[in-house]
This record gives sequence, C-alpha cells and structure tokens, in this order.
Amino acid sequence: MKKEFIFVGPPGSGKGTQTKMLSKEFNLPHIDTGSLLREEVASGSEEGRLAASFMDNGNLVPIDLVSKIIKNRLSKKDCENGFILDGYPRSSEQALALDEILKEIDKEEKITPQVFYFEVNQDKLVERLVNRRSCSKCGAIYNLKTMKLKDETKCEKCGGDLKRRDDDTEEVAVKRFTTYFKETAPIIDMYKKRGWLSSIDASLDIDTIYKNLKGAIK
Ligand code: AMP
Repeated sequence: MKKEFIFVGPPGSGKGTQTKMLSKEFNLPHIDTGSLLREEVASGSEEGRLAASFMDNGNLVPIDLVSKIIKNRLSKKDCENGFILDGYPRSSEQALALDEILKEIDKEEKITPQVFYFEVNQDKLVERLVNRRSCSKCGAIYNLKTMKLKDETKCEKCGGDLKRRDDDTEEVAVKRFTTYFKETAPIIDMYKKRGWLSSIDASLDIDTIYKNLKGAIK
C-alpha cells in the first residue's frame, strides 16, 4: 500500500530528524522543500537567486516555484511506493496545489495521506534553531546545547564539516515563526477537518517521539 506522509510543524520542532529516521526505516524518499530550495540556491540558477531573496528574510518562496519543484520530485520513480513530505505544504494555497498534484500523480488510486502535526511549546524553538548545526556531507542534525560534541565543527557520523544554516540566526528565525503562524498554521485545521491529522508531542526526546510517531501510523 502506497504511503503518503506529510509533516507540519514550526521551524525547529524536529521534523527533519524524525522524517530522516522514518525515511531510512520505511525506505521512502524524504522530500524536504527547504533542502531542495537550498540546492537550487547553491546551483546559482536564476530561480535559486529568486528563492534566496525570500529565504534570507524568513518568507515563503513564491508558490509557482515551489509547486514546480514538488511536482517534478513527486513524479520520480522512487516515489511510486510513497513519500515523506517535510516542510510542504506551508500555506492553504500550497495545500490546495498539493491536492491537484496528488490527483495527477495517484490517478485513480484512492490514497489518504496522513499528516503529522508536531506540537511543541515555541519558547524553546528559537534557542534550538540558533544552536542547530547540520553536516554538509551526510545531513545529520546536531544541537550544540543538548548534544555534547567533542568537536563542534565535525560530524560524529561521517567526519563532514558542521555548518549553521544562513537562516538560523535569531533575527531570521523570529521572522520564520511569524510566517509559520500566519501562513502555515491554518492548514492544521484544514487537515483536521478532513480527518487526516495526527498530533505528535514534539517536546519529548528523539527516541520517544519516534516511537510515538510509528505508533500513530495508520
Ligand atoms: P526549512 O529548511 O524547511 O526551514 O525552510 C527554509 C526556508 O525555505 C523557509 O524559511 C522558506 O523561505 C523556504 N521554504 C521551504 N519550504 C517552503 C515551502 N513549502 N514554500 C515556500 N517556501 C519554502
């Protein structure tokens, strides 16, 4: 049975960590629009430059560009058995665009996506973001405050360089929250009304969240 998982939650709620674990265990592609957009920015393309002008300020990248990227990605062969969406959709408009994309991709198959909503007290989130580092080689995510690393510049899994994202500064992080509450939070109600939503307490430790997440899969 094809599995379509959608993860929604504020920046820093731990979606990236959990979706990577789930992707590995269930052998489903992890599709993270933030990373796809950062790749576009790194490529130096015109679309990448446009995306960067929104990302640098904590705003949403225009829907046309995001829809194009998502449609291309979901049409790839590795998505045939399902996928994990992390960071998309992020607005009611994007949620409606996704409905159309899924209609096209799933054709007559009747699949009900499952949406996991990561609930967490926002007080701790800015602190989590500014202390977040990720490996430039394998993508592993670390928190300098809670994980005591021997060397704060090297990945403990693969030895790659640890980097802080350009938008993980306090100023941009605060703006990303404002964007989240204005644009993204409304889709939670929409998915709840459809009966697609499962809430996950994202304030717990990584292993407990993962156990609860797997327990909530229908
Ligand atoms: P993230 O890595 O998920 O925190 O995303 C980083 C930035 O990429 C966001 O602050 C947005 O500027 C942009 N972005 C990521 N996903 C989307 C999306 N679905 N729609 C529009 N912009 C996005």
